[in-house]
This record gives sequence, structure tokens and C-alpha cells, in this order.
Amino acid sequence: MRAEILAVGTELLLGQIENTNARFLSRALADLGIDVFYHVAVGDNPQRLDEAFRTALGRSDLVLVSGGLGPTSDDITRERLAEVTDRPLVLDEESLAHIEDFFRGRGVVMPPGNRKQAMVPRGAVSIPNPAGTARGVLLEIGRQTVILLPGPPRELLPMTRGTVIPYLRERLERAGERAVIRSRVLKLVGIGESAAEEEIAAIMAGQGNPTVAPLAGDGEVHFRITAKAGDRHAADALIAPVEAAILDRLARHVYGRDDDTLEGVIAGLLAERGSRLAVAESCTGGGVAYRLTGVPGSSAHFERGLVVYSNQAKVELAGVAPGLLERHGAVSREVAAALAEGVMAHARCDFGLGVTGIAGPGGGSPSKPVGLVYFGLAGGGPTATFERRFTGGRSDVRMRATTYALELLWGRLRP
Ligand code: ATP
Repeated sequence: MRAEILAVGTELLLGQIENTNARFLSRALADLGIDVFYHVAVGDNPQRLDEAFRTALGRSDLVLVSGGLGPTSDDITRERLAEVTDRPLVLDEESLAHIEDFFRGRGVVMPPGNRKQAMVPRGAVSIPNPAGTARGVLLEIGRQTVILLPGPPRELLPMTRGTVIPYLRERLERAGERAVIRSRVLKLVGIGESAAEEEIAAIMAGQGNPTVAPLAGDGEVHFRITAKAGDRHAADALIAPVEAAILDRLARHVYGRDDDTLEGVIAGLLAERGSRLAVAESCTGGGVAYRLTGVPGSSAHFERGLVVYSNQAKVELAGVAPGLLERHGAVSREVAAALAEGVMAHARCDFGLGVTGIAGPGGGSPSKPVGLVYFGLAGGGPTATFERRFTGGRSDVRMRATTYALELLWGRLRP
């Protein structure tokens, strides 16, 4: 079954809202093993919506539509579907009764405009909406199906779960087409996208089912392995050898899978050891502490985070010797090490991390250019320092330095 998702709403085209409905619907269809071939977004414009409907009906077996089912005059989705499929709108008594009940339950009389929400193209059935008045529409046209759902996610989600998914599941079962699509994501740090792809070039080249797709960003590389099969177990069995083959080449870079986060994995490793950590940050401005404290329960292992921006703060709060700052400058290996050791000692922790660098755009020099960042890591072995040169603007440098600091912590804590 080829599916298409059509999101209706000028707000989407203006970039005022994110098309989260398309994402949600795509995931729901993937779980059912239905291939989604197109995502289309179109404004509340009759001609263009008609064109989008015609195009969708010309190429897709299933068209899921979100938005434009409200009571106002710019909500035109049901009218345009009726027009395009040549099925006049008829009143659905049951829908009308439900909508009237909805208003009665709130102690108000139904405004006349809402009557149009009880209209469905002839031959269609209406889909209950437990959270609002915009009932959905399900229209079968030969082998094709069009399903209209309201735009607000708090209405669309329960309607999809309550009616659309069970309907599709039953159809697939009837057609003997039931399949599932399963994914496994491997998450890597410490290697760039092209180097990682090169390592597994042979695996990427032999793709079919499963497929392997790389995704890079925020200093991490992810590989998504996706398989389609008759059931979960069969799909997982297809994924397992590919996952093993990737791990065989890249295990030293893989910090986690699926919903794991670098900070979450670090939290788990600290908890396993019963260790605590403190950080002293200059150029990342608390970014490392922010991510580490985003993990629920982090108070058990995260002792403190200092933002030591000025030299004075580095001296007063992290115990950096003033002479060190004078001799080497704030952005130096020596100060990074002193920050790590100082914050660890002050906080009486097992691990300490220091970050100092030049985020830019100003403040660089030929010997210490913008993007130069030093990291110090104390505890669990001799204090180590690391030098990195990040590219990009201020926020890129800060973000990459934050991820790299977490990568270093993971490197030291991992078994
Ligand atoms: P209503 O009955 O509330 O008028 P509707 O079906 O007419 O519903 P729209 O008017 O198109 O829906 O959109 C209402 C709101 O739903 C939008 O302002 C937006 O907040 C949300 N919304 C619409 N489309 C999407 C989408 N594709 N993804 C996420 N949210 C959406």
C-alpha cells in the first residue's frame, strides 16, 4: 500500500507551525509496515488543495489528510474532497448529534457554523473525535482510501490511535499485507560522518532490506538500520546481523542506541561506579552542566557545575593558580587541567572536567584562534588534557565543545 500524507494549512507554509502531524502519521504507518511515499503541505487555497487531492489520488492508495476541518470559512478540506471526488456533501445525522452533545455538555447551544462539521462526502463514514467537534472523514473510493483528520494534534492523535490504525490494521490483515517496519539507531561519537561511512562502506553498498542511513549533526553520527518484515521478530532478525557488522567495525565509537543520549549514558556509567562529577566551564557557559543535569536523577552523581568566565572566577571558584593564568593564558592546556583538578578537589568528587576556549567571533589571535578549546579531565587516572579546533560560529563552537566534553567523559568512564 502506497501512502501519502497531505497537511493542509497556510500556517505550515508560512513556517508558523511545525508539521508534527506528518511525522506522527508517518511513524504510525511505518509501524504498520505501510510505505509512505510523499509528504505534501498545501495552504488553505481551494485550487491548490484540489490539485493536491488530484495528484494524491493519481498516485497513492491511502491519503491521510490533516487540517482544515474546522467550522470557519477557511476550513475547506471536506468541501474540496467532495468536489474533487464528485461526491456531494450530505448530512451525517450521527455526527450532528455528537456535535450538538459536545456543545450541550459545555452548557452552550451549537453555533450554526458547526453544522458543516457534520457533513461528509456521500459514501464516507465519519470518524469520532473525543477531544473536539471536528469529526474525521473516511472515504473509500474503489481500492483507494482518503482519511481526513483535524489539525490540532490533541485531536488528531487520539483519532488516529482510536480509529485510523485499527481500520488500517484490519484492511492489511484482510489483504494479507500486514508487515512491520522496525528501526535500530546506533549512536557514535569521536568519528566524522565520512570516516564512519568509509568504515562500513561494504555494509552500506549491499543495502536492500534492511537499509542503513547515516545521520550527522551536533558532533555525533547516527546510523539508522531499518528493516521491513512480516512481524517484529522477523524484522529484528534482519536488523541483528547488520547491527553486529557495524559494531564489529565501529564499536569503540558507539556510545548508545535508539533513545540513548550521551549524557544519559554518562549518568548510567557514573551510577554504576557510584562516582560523582563536578565541572568548571568557561567558553561553554554551563552547556555541559545543562546537558548533564537534563538527565532525571542527576543529583545522585552530578555535584556541581561552575561557570568560571573571568580569570578571577577561575582563581576564586576553581582554585586555579594566578601564576598559571599569567604564564599560559586562560585558554591553555595548563588552565584546563587546573580547572578540572580544582573543581574536583573543591567538590570532593571522583571526576572533574574543565573547559576553556575561544568561542568567537572576537578574541582570537594567530597563536590562539577562534574555535580553539582546551579540555581537562581529572579523576579515574592521571589528569589528561585535550586540544581541539572547532569550526563554525560562536554557537557551533560552544555546542561542539559541549558535545566533545561529554565524549571525553564517556571515554574515561566507559568500561
Ligand atoms: P479546528 O477544528 O481546530 O479548526 P482544523 O482541522 O480546522 O481544526 P486547522 O485549522 O488546520 O485544523 O489547524 C488548527 C491548529 O492545529 C493549528 O493552528 C495548529 O496549531 C495545529 N495544526 C494544524 N496542522 C498541523 C500539523 N500538520 N502539524 C501540527 N499541528 C498542526
